[in-house]
Amino acid sequence: MASNGKGDGAHFALDDPLKKVDPQLYEIILKEKSRQRHGLEMIASENFTSAAVLQSLGSCLHNKYSEGLPGARYYGGNEHIDEVERLCQQRALDAFGLSSERWGVNVQPYSGSPANFAVYTAVVEPHGRIMGLDLPDGGHLTHGFFTQTKKVSATSIFFESMPYKLNPETAEIDYDKLQETARLFKPRLIIAGVSCYPRDLDYARFRRIADDVGALLMADMAHVSGLVAAGVAPSPFELCDIVTSTTHKTLRGARAGLIFFRRGVRSVDRTGKEVPYDLEDRINQAVFPGLQGGPHNHAIAGVACALLQAQTPEFKLYQTQVVANARRLAAGLKARGYTLVTGGTDNHIVWLDLRGTGLTGAKGELLLEAAAIACNKNTVPGDKSALNPSGLRLGTPALTTRGLTEEHFDTVVDFIDKALQLAKQVVAVSGVKMVDFRRVLAGEQFAEPATKLRGEVEAFAGQFPLPGLGEL
Ligand SMILES: *Cc1c(COP(=O)(O)O)cnc(C)c1O
Repeated sequence: MASNGKGDGAHFALDDPLKKVDPQLYEIILKEKSRQRHGLEMIASENFTSAAVLQSLGSCLHNKYSEGLPGARYYGGNEHIDEVERLCQQRALDAFGLSSERWGVNVQPYSGSPANFAVYTAVVEPHGRIMGLDLPDGGHLTHGFFTQTKKVSATSIFFESMPYKLNPETAEIDYDKLQETARLFKPRLIIAGVSCYPRDLDYARFRRIADDVGALLMADMAHVSGLVAAGVAPSPFELCDIVTSTTHKTLRGARAGLIFFRRGVRSVDRTGKEVPYDLEDRINQAVFPGLQGGPHNHAIAGVACALLQAQTPEFKLYQTQVVANARRLAAGLKARGYTLVTGGTDNHIVWLDLRGTGLTGAKGELLLEAAAIACNKNTVPGDKSALNPSGLRLGTPALTTRGLTEEHFDTVVDFIDKALQLAKQVVAVSGVKMVDFRRVLAGEQFAEPATKLRGEVEAFAGQFPLPGLGEL
């Protein structure tokens, strides 16, 4: 006997569908589905995964415990789970064109952040040194983020991190400065990876800097792994010792993380002796039993399925379209007088600089959200405070999954421009304070144009298919 949450003691059968067992939760999910269907999803880290991946996620694999690695488990009954995990490992290598002689992969990390923490645990001693791109410059929290007053990410609590930055003039990574700082700081590990950066990374330059100071080089390709698999962004594998990734951003799989590590010969010493890599056991043991318990087998299956899809011609076309759409979005915004950080894009990200428009990132984000366009505020190089960012990060992966092409992005540019023009009118009435901006936007005066714009966006977005499992 169980309660349905309303306290009237209704019964449920184990085979009853969600709609019947928990109508309250079911309704919330339907509302979210409708939000996804009728909005323009431009958060650069999001995507809509396929029905096949969602089916894997909803499968019986969820029920199984399988601590350990395939063939070496702490629980019985894992013959099929072993098959799933081995398949996922093999496809991860295949999707990125890697040989098992030179590379291995751990597919168990629960997500991108735990994958990164596992790498540091494996190869950097406690309070050892790491260097990553600073968060306000486009890096990720897990690359060691801290502020003047607070060690924000656990990666800055348990390891000593020294950020590198963008050159404020060019807004590109300041490799010269990174080299100079690395020589002084002598990190054990350098991280090449970004969450908000519209340009390709120069992995060769990172490699030279890492070699210069004797550091390991890790690429965190969380944002671009789909582009890399399709060959439309440079691959980090040739030049890095370790590569981590999420699986749910451009790669469009289940939410999880991957860690690729080198195998074989690392270098040849002065006496001609080969020095092997020692990453495999350390990384595997850091994931389990170091940090995690039982693998999420349903997620591993969802990743395996996505990695199969990532090897198809359709996927290559998809990623090519993601980049073409981002270029069109960038060109459209520039044509309307907007400023882009770095002036354009090589990948799926467009980084809008709102300085000089009278708007802030928060105001832009709020108005776009009111117009059913989802994106996020982001600092731009030169921002004084990370708390009041001046930019917006826009991405094309999710809308491209729904079938939007360049011409559709002309319409999207039109909607974004209308929303930001409206935001300027709101600021003219409210002044700069965010509370006043919110109040005026919610009030009578702008109700009509805001509702009209939202209606246009929703009607447009609603035309495009949304992959998924039927009504949920
Ligand atoms: C998104 C992201 C992560 C973390 O992924 P989660 O799955 O959200 O934990 C790590 N690194 C980079 C560069 C990212 O963009």
